[in-house]
Amino acid sequence: MSTTNFKKNNFLELRQKAEEKIQRIIKKVKTEIVPKHELEHELSVREIEMEMQYDELTLTKNALKESLKNYSTFFDYAPIGYFILDKNGVIRNVNQTACSQLGIDKMQLIAKALSTFLRTEQCQDDFYRHRNLVLETEISQQVECEIKRKDGSFFIALIESSYVKENENFNFFLSTVSDISTRKKQERKVEMALIKEKELNAMKSQFITIASHEFRTPLTTILSSANLIEKYGNPKDEEKRNKHFHKIKTSVSRLKEILMDFLSVSEVEKGNITNNPETFNLVKFIEDIIEETKSFNGTHNVKYIHIGSHQNVFLDMKLLKICLTNLIINAYKYSPKGGLIEITTEQNTPENLVIIIKDNGIGIPDADALHIFETFFRARNAENIQGTGLGLNITEKFVGIMGGSISFISKENKGTMFILKFLHYNNVL
Ligand code: ADP
Repeated sequence: MSTTNFKKNNFLELRQKAEEKIQRIIKKVKTEIVPKHELEHELSVREIEMEMQYDELTLTKNALKESLKNYSTFFDYAPIGYFILDKNGVIRNVNQTACSQLGIDKMQLIAKALSTFLRTEQCQDDFYRHRNLVLETEISQQVECEIKRKDGSFFIALIESSYVKENENFNFFLSTVSDISTRKKQERKVEMALIKEKELNAMKSQFITIASHEFRTPLTTILSSANLIEKYGNPKDEEKRNKHFHKIKTSVSRLKEILMDFLSVSEVEKGNITNNPETFNLVKFIEDIIEETKSFNGTHNVKYIHIGSHQNVFLDMKLLKICLTNLIINAYKYSPKGGLIEITTEQNTPENLVIIIKDNGIGIPDADALHIFETFFRARNAENIQGTGLGLNITEKFVGIMGGSISFISKENKGTMFILKFLHYNNVL
């Protein structure tokens, strides 16, 4: 019933009652002889009574208005969005919070299906199932959906819908929408931290396995060489002693190298590695590394050439040294003695540098190529050669920190070529 109809009917009813009352008074006047002054008094009293009733009514009306206003404020500015939906999920009414959540005016929301504001088809399907579940169970249910805003952004919403009845029949859904993006972000952070923690634990146990395996050989060598040196007390055994001193030194270097690798991985994990570039001569730098890694070089034939007129580079010397040392030692390790190792650097313009390290060794099997930069990963054909599976991982991370990229081309039993590229690397800073 509309408000106008209600007023009209009410008025007619009141008028009828008043008519009946006046008829009763006229009848009374006719049957009993009522003095005029009594009648006038009665009328005045009635008039005052009416005025008083009117005042009371106005007061009640104002109080009602005020309370309605309060309820609208509660509804409109509740901390969550309210959507009143029909059976098909079409919006019948919304509060202001809901409008703000979506960044859309009330008038543009009413009569539209709420699902049109859901971000993905998956969300729409979930919401459809959610409504059906509320209808079936008549119990409020929750669903998480991504809701689009007018500006194209979206938020993660927790929608809770209740079944509202009138005369035992379904009347509407009251769906509340809470923005839970921040909570979800926090949850994701905690999940990520947990994954990281698990990875770290796995890494720790891998570290123990690898360390105990990799430390054993150099430590055994050190011990047996030290025992033999003790025995070679005679001055004529000097050559033998020197051989074992050299073995001890090489084993200590190997231990240091393994420890440095572990340390580098943990520093990268902690985000402690920064890029500190400086200008230096690349050719001299590479020649020094070749010299320093000689002890690992059996009888390999190392050839280094530089192409291009620019020899100065602007890179982090410490990081680059670790990368190139890893790649050069790998080339020695994974290729036969006497094999050719070719190192090429090319810098035709000051900001474009390419470094290539090529060997003719065992190569990387195709099936392992995808995983080669992962921590602790070792290809199946490298099992009999000492290693931790950390060098390439560290190299890839360091090259990335310096703004470069690393790739490789390899064929099993034919050889491997690692390529480092620093293009426009002056812009990294
Ligand atoms: P490590 O050499 O200590 O095992 P790396 O991270 O340096 O660890 O290398 C990971 C794996 O990549 C090696 O175990 C090996 O299987 C493969 N690899 C790296 N460099 C070469 C190479 N030059 N030739 C063949 N295989 C290589």
